[in-house]
Amino acid sequence: MLLTILGCSGSAPGPRSPSSGYLLEADGFLLCVELGAGTLAELQAVRDPFAVDALLFSHLHPDHCSDFSSLTVLRRYHPAPSRDPHAHRLPVFAPKEAPSRFANAYAPDEAERLATDLSDVYDFHTWNTDTVHIGPFTVDSVQAKHPCESYSFRITHGGASLVYTGDTGPSDELHTLAAGADVILAEASWAHGGNWPADLHLSGREAGEVAQRAGARRLLITHVPPWTDAQAMLDEARGVVGGESVLVRQGAEYSI
Ligand SMILES: [Zn+2]
Ligand SMILES: [Zn+2]
Repeated sequence: MLLTILGCSGSAPGPRSPSSGYLLEADGFLLCVELGAGTLAELQAVRDPFAVDALLFSHLHPDHCSDFSSLTVLRRYHPAPSRDPHAHRLPVFAPKEAPSRFANAYAPDEAERLATDLSDVYDFHTWNTDTVHIGPFTVDSVQAKHPCESYSFRITHGGASLVYTGDTGPSDELHTLAAGADVILAEASWAHGGNWPADLHLSGREAGEVAQRAGARRLLITHVPPWTDAQAMLDEARGVVGGESVLVRQGAEYSI
């Protein structure tokens, strides 16, 4: 499978750097994971947005989903879509609050909110930790350690597997999910050892520990906030993990 980074700025977009968004492509199927601020612009730069076959969200914080409203405008009002968005409603796999969350974000007032459920162009599926097949991908997940309904994913295709941490504090469940994965796409939000809240994010060192304990051949570090030193996150991770560790960047592609 091919991973393309649409955006990787953690918690908020950075200078010319969209928030979280990732494309996974295999067997001609295009799965978009997260759609944070700025990622719809990047998506249009690299692919036809109507070619996306499914959307998957780890959770509903703005930095992971705030371009959804803009995608709705595109799907409803583009005069010449390459695929009819009404005849081919986009499957959306997300926490249970997604339909109301996205309708509220889209509708500018209560009157429109009452008339809006977005089902004209989307087909919502409530996520849980069951194994789910999305096109050619198999997706396993665990609950993330984060202040809202939130998941970490293990996405498998053709014997290769990618584990995406989403936003999470460290946990045994995450290590179990990641065991034996080929590639870890891990968030790193802050320096290790600071006085940070529990069950919120990973440090650079903790991202490295996920990859090290999993025995992964590659660690991709993402979700570094604009106020955090990205090189320090990489250095922390490299302090604990062998193999290849890199900071992802917008537009980069990785074969998994
Ligand atoms: Zn985030
Ligand atoms: Zn979050």
